[in-house]
Amino acid sequence: MIVENLSRIRHAIGDRSCELVAVSKQQPDALIDEALASGLRVFGENRVQEAYTHWEKRRLLFPDLKLHLIGPLQSNKAEDAVALFDMIHSVDRPKIALALGEAMRKRGKSLPCFIQINTGNEPQKSGIGFDALADFLHFCRTEAKIEIIGLMCIPPVDDDPAIHFAAMQQAAKNHALPCLSMGMSNDYETAMQYGATHLRIGSALFARRMKG
Ligand SMILES: *Cc1c(COP(=O)(O)O)cnc(C)c1O
Repeated sequence: MIVENLSRIRHAIGDRSCELVAVSKQQPDALIDEALASGLRVFGENRVQEAYTHWEKRRLLFPDLKLHLIGPLQSNKAEDAVALFDMIHSVDRPKIALALGEAMRKRGKSLPCFIQINTGNEPQKSGIGFDALADFLHFCRTEAKIEIIGLMCIPPVDDDPAIHFAAMQQAAKNHALPCLSMGMSNDYETAMQYGATHLRIGSALFARRMKG
């Protein structure tokens, strides 16, 4: 039951000011509706097209809905992304930053964004290295003219996530960025110890748990 999963996660969050982004990618309609019925209003999707399928109609019924794009974006989808979403977690290259900035000005809608960091330098993952952060941040602000509020990462599955979260916390501090999008189903409690402000949680929220 989503309500039970949700109360367990909320209990872990406690009184921290940490936003729970419910990751609804690949979830059936019945569970998305169950999540809405349980009071959740902030959702994350990793693909623009699937997000439209899930949310285009539902957002008319729930005006307080907030949608976060957490997956990689192609520049030809920037306008669709800006039209649907309220926040972007996955800005990772100049072309995307420029396309987002242009789409935001066109629609008169400004979306706070995160820069995605590939903390483990994994070739299959999106994101920039910490060494490129200062230049890219400057580019986003001065050339693309988009608002960067923080950093996002997905740590390598086989590493201790704490090392990656600690490096993220330090980088955010160095650049005076207030937000950190980190922590998923298996590591969100660790992420909170390192200052996570946005948890992206899918399976721990939507999965049916075995009764022991
Ligand atoms: C799927 C996904 C999540 C949620 O993962 P869970 O382990 O199911 O909580 C978080 N962030 C991103 C970018 C994702 O693609």
